[in-house]
Amino acid sequence: MDTNHFKEILLAEEKRLTEALAAEQSEATEEGNLAVETRDEVAEKFEDSDEREATHQTLENHLTEVRNALAKIGTGTYGKCEVCQEPIEIDRLEASPTAKTCKKHLSDLNGH
Ligand SMILES: [Zn+2]
Repeated sequence: MDTNHFKEILLAEEKRLTEALAAEQSEATEEGNLAVETRDEVAEKFEDSDEREATHQTLENHLTEVRNALAKIGTGTYGKCEVCQEPIEIDRLEASPTAKTCKKHLSDLNGH
């Protein structure tokens, strides 16, 4: 398997996610510095930050998966199903480079 191809995709994804998290961080800090607000505005902000928290979590989870996949490339175990140890279908990896299982075991591990 051409792991270099997937390594490039994963490294690009890692960069994108790291930047998204950093951008989000600075945005949150700026808002935290804003002073005096009406009660309604504060309530709205809370809802906003709930959503942001969810997005943040999604980004972080994805980043963890990308890094796990990169670590597997390093150890030569990338692209193997974690259930049956068979190679994962290339088209599945193309669609989801962080896939951990083959198509047959898609539902055995949660995720992807
Ligand atoms: Zn499998």
